[in-house]
Amino acid sequence: MNLEAKKKALSFVKTEKISCVNYASLSAAAQNLGYTIIDYTRGINNENVATLISEFRLEELVKQTNGFIFSSGDYRLIFINKDLSGRERLIVLAHEIGHIVCKHIHSGQGTGFNVQDEYEANEFTHYLLNPPFSERMKTWAAKHKKALISFFIALVLAAGSISAAFTIKKQNSYYGEYYITSTGAKYHKKDCVFVKNKDNARRLTKEEFDSGAYAPCEMCLPDGRQ
Ligand SMILES: [Zn+2]
Ligand SMILES: [Zn+2]
Repeated sequence: MNLEAKKKALSFVKTEKISCVNYASLSAAAQNLGYTIIDYTRGINNENVATLISEFRLEELVKQTNGFIFSSGDYRLIFINKDLSGRERLIVLAHEIGHIVCKHIHSGQGTGFNVQDEYEANEFTHYLLNPPFSERMKTWAAKHKKALISFFIALVLAAGSISAAFTIKKQNSYYGEYYITSTGAKYHKKDCVFVKNKDNARRLTKEEFDSGAYAPCEMCLPDGRQ
């Protein structure tokens, strides 16, 4: 039994104020840690996901794993195979959060396949998804108090309003150098993979910014999450 992993799992639940461990609450906690969850399939991905995979050469990881972390520069991404069952996705997300919490992530690479790291992430997952009995009772009590809040977080996630919240925050600090494409509703830093080398990319005007029609890209403009 790895007491460290157990301690880390319990303190993670406490720090992130998770009243009920499920996919929505773990997603919110991952966002809080500065990570964006990317749902991918081993089949055909949408344009943005396909761009990330090819730009960062993640084809092999996509083929060989059901989830992994990619961290480089401003990009902190958790990739999860969306074709898994709900229970499997929860396990994969918990495992990847384990890597983050146990500090296995080094910039400029995907999660390694270090045996010790994998073991610790699995132990973390075990304790996160199967808390000890007394913790479970506390969790149950807290759940009722916080049910409304959890529901609200889930709603916010579902509606994708997180980007909208960033827009409001960003409005006062905007001072130029952002780019958009003719098809996207997000604005980006100049070197973001979504605008770099794209024929239809151009600079965002003040009027367009003020119109509120564009939100900051979660990948290259993750401010406000750290
Ligand atoms: Zn792992
Ligand atoms: Zn971007």
